[in-house]
Amino acid sequence: MEELIRKIKESHTITVLTGAGVSTESGIPDFRSANGVWQQNDKNQIHMTSGYFNSRPKLFWPHYKEIFDIEEISNCQPTTAHLFLKQLEDEGRDIRIFTQNIDGLHTKAGSSKVFEMHGSFNKATCPKCKTQYGLEHILKEPIPRCTQAKKKGQSICGFILKPDTVLFGERVRHYEDAVNSINQSSLFVVLGSSLEVRPVNQLPELAHQQSNIHTGIINNEPTRMDRFFKDILNGDIGGYLRS
Ligand code: NAD
Repeated sequence: MEELIRKIKESHTITVLTGAGVSTESGIPDFRSANGVWQQNDKNQIHMTSGYFNSRPKLFWPHYKEIFDIEEISNCQPTTAHLFLKQLEDEGRDIRIFTQNIDGLHTKAGSSKVFEMHGSFNKATCPKCKTQYGLEHILKEPIPRCTQAKKKGQSICGFILKPDTVLFGERVRHYEDAVNSINQSSLFVVLGSSLEVRPVNQLPELAHQQSNIHTGIINNEPTRMDRFFKDILNGDIGGYLRS
């Protein structure tokens, strides 16, 4: 068994940072692999910015639904990695999962300490009256709108909803929670992320600066943050975690 896998199985307090690579086994493509979403259309990144949503919400929604294939995501099941982390929690370990994924699969697997740093695909909010909607409403119409009555008996609000995902140009969530969690952990491990997205990709350096924490990454390919990890495994996450 690889040293990092042994460390993951033996550590008590673990901060895990996951990326799209933990979910590819379930059929959800990542962004930056050779067949990832960014390779399919070079405008996809522009379509995922807050600027695009704010200026062209009617055009944004069809792109957003297509890029993330959100109807399909809702049918996907947790992978080896999601179930492995849930199993560690069941064994009494303190596992805090910080995920860049919006697919909700850590929660679906049953993990309880999940921090969705980039939000979630299955909620949307009215920018005007702040009413929240779930997936059923988001999928009902190509462009989901607020159906809340302005006042009893009056016309509906009708505003185009904003998805609960963090778009490029918006503030990431739970960053301070991640920093605090790293400070309290004996292991910081990254699973399936290219570590290209700021500010989340600053966390490995932060962990590296702590003397009392072990650090590791499992990813198919090297990342430009690899110098901050003590243990690096390049290959399929599911394969390593099943070993
Ligand atoms: P990314 O696409 O930039 O990187 C994913 C990394 O995972 C790649 O380096 C790839 O080589 C690796 N990988 C893929 N499958 C793997 C496997 N089975 N085993 C080991 N490694 C594997 O993704 P990221 O770093 O998470 O980028 C962050 C952005 O991507 C976030 O904004 C996130 O919202 C978004 N995203 C999320 C999902 C999802 O929710 N499932 C899917 C695609 C993109």
